[in-house]
Amino acid sequence: MARKVLVLEDEASIRGFIVINLTRAGYEVIEAETGEEALEKLKANADVRVALLDIMLPGIDGFEVCRRIRATNTRIGIIMLTARSQEMDKVTGLMTGADDYVTKPFSPAELTARVDALYRRSGGVSPEQSGEIFQDPFLLNTRNRTLEKNGKRVKLTQVEYSIMKMFMENPGKALSREEILDTVWGRDYFGELKIVDVNIRRLRLKIEDNAQNPTYINTVWGFGYKWGF
Ligand code: CA
Repeated sequence: MARKVLVLEDEASIRGFIVINLTRAGYEVIEAETGEEALEKLKANADVRVALLDIMLPGIDGFEVCRRIRATNTRIGIIMLTARSQEMDKVTGLMTGADDYVTKPFSPAELTARVDALYRRSGGVSPEQSGEIFQDPFLLNTRNRTLEKNGKRVKLTQVEYSIMKMFMENPGKALSREEILDTVWGRDYFGELKIVDVNIRRLRLKIEDNAQNPTYINTVWGFGYKWGF
């Protein structure tokens, strides 16, 4: 089950920062650059539980987006992204429909904590509680150590599972073979780095659409591997 969050932010770098951190925390993130796009995407994704709305946008602003969402949806959690603390008077005065606000710049931990809290309050089970990480088409369950792809169970060894967990907790990050060996096999393991490659090769056969042309586990030449992106 996907845990959907919508992020409305016109600045690509900030949006990217939010997306990567919420994805890492186990959410499926739907992105929008304009208020109009956000409203369209919410219509198409009625199961979005939390929306993060930037205020200053081209076209209609974040307050207007909030007002329009609230006109039809009282259940969704809404967090306003404010640019500076000076904006706060205005924000608190206008955010009648919003549940919370975060002031830029914010840390990944602060962002995730706010979204988790609101997600729970809106009746959802946060990824942290459920032990599930969803990254379309993969669902990793850290409670029972299982992986599904498109809803179908993929049978993994414990080592393969540990590698997948490390990947899905670090989407888009290049991981060195040494790092993978340390994390999965333990620091006191004296085996060879080659064991990492052997397991990656087998994992690709299990999870890639085409293991000859992998798109999920990417090779970072002379270094290691990278999950997605
Ligand atoms: Ca903006």
